[in-house]
Amino acid sequence: MTQSLIAINADFDSGNISVVDASDPQHIKLAIRPDTNSQHFQWFHFKVDGMQVGQPHSFSLTNAGQSSYNRAWTGYNAAASYDQKTWFRVPSTFDGKALNFDLTPTEPHIWFAYFEPYSRERHQWLIDQALNNAGAVLLATGKSIEGRDIPLLRKGDGAEGKRKIWVIAQQHPGEHMAEWFMEGIIERLQQNDTELAGLLEKADLYLVPHMNPDGSFRGHLRTNALGKDLNRTWQDATPELSPEVFFVKAQMEKYGVDMFLDVHGDEEIPYVFTAACEGNPGYTDKQKELEADFRTRLSGLTKDFQTRYGYPRSTPGNANMNLACNSVGERYKCLALTLEMPFKDNDDAPNPLTGWSGERSKQLAKDVLTTLAQMVPVLR
Ligand code: ZN
Repeated sequence: MTQSLIAINADFDSGNISVVDASDPQHIKLAIRPDTNSQHFQWFHFKVDGMQVGQPHSFSLTNAGQSSYNRAWTGYNAAASYDQKTWFRVPSTFDGKALNFDLTPTEPHIWFAYFEPYSRERHQWLIDQALNNAGAVLLATGKSIEGRDIPLLRKGDGAEGKRKIWVIAQQHPGEHMAEWFMEGIIERLQQNDTELAGLLEKADLYLVPHMNPDGSFRGHLRTNALGKDLNRTWQDATPELSPEVFFVKAQMEKYGVDMFLDVHGDEEIPYVFTAACEGNPGYTDKQKELEADFRTRLSGLTKDFQTRYGYPRSTPGNANMNLACNSVGERYKCLALTLEMPFKDNDDAPNPLTGWSGERSKQLAKDVLTTLAQMVPVLR
């Protein structure tokens, strides 16, 4: 047997993998690293060099069965790209222990990831687009544990009486579809269509395109650099342990909130859905009405949103108040939703080539803006 030339590298933005044994191209054994200071893991992202074009290669993520959402691997297909631009899915199987996929490459190198990654570099570009081409302003900049910027953008002049619609994304750093969604919002802000103009006449948009830059950069699934799950810190956020949430809560207090959307990805459920704050102690009929209205309108606009599948509803008074949606919904008595997009695909409109993707996340965001344009007169 000739010496394998396979080289596996994850030492880059959002990289995550460790090599168990890459000596045999037909049995490349890898493992996903846990988040720093945390047991969580599921996100992976790595580059393979030195493959033989036209020869079969087999990859095995040997610890997939112990990951945070290990049931989610069934029905999941790994994302791959030869150029970090066009991503496609590689048929994968889960045997209860490992996630396995095979590839006969057309190039000697390839990137694999849990989902089409949204890079820190693209994040910087997106903020530039928002400020220079979409007419947004930078209201404030938070800092992560490791000192990365967390920009808060506003589209609109902040005039008295306008509704304040907040959209935040990627509290969970492995949920890269969330910042693709934000790109969809900022892209539509540049088109300036009449529907959107109607929304912006009555409302300002407050946007936090990326809540957890340290976690994403480190290739985490779930936590910030200190191992904190940001979407479990909305009652007790501190500048020391979760400055990312502390910052956004303070900004909300400063400006107010009339609608809140927290954008996420779900590992297991192959549909787009929302979760709401029906378990809050102060849940109102108005909130209930607005949630139903949002869901009806958005599912009427696109096959990429539905209302049949989702999380079990919380029973009255039993909401976890450390979740952003519940915390903000209770504090501001406004429409507050968690939006979940799939890592797998939308089984109502599947695309076997790409699965759920960055592009589909962007389109969904544009449809959400249409929904908000329709609802803005009744938000309060
Ligand atoms: Zn999440």
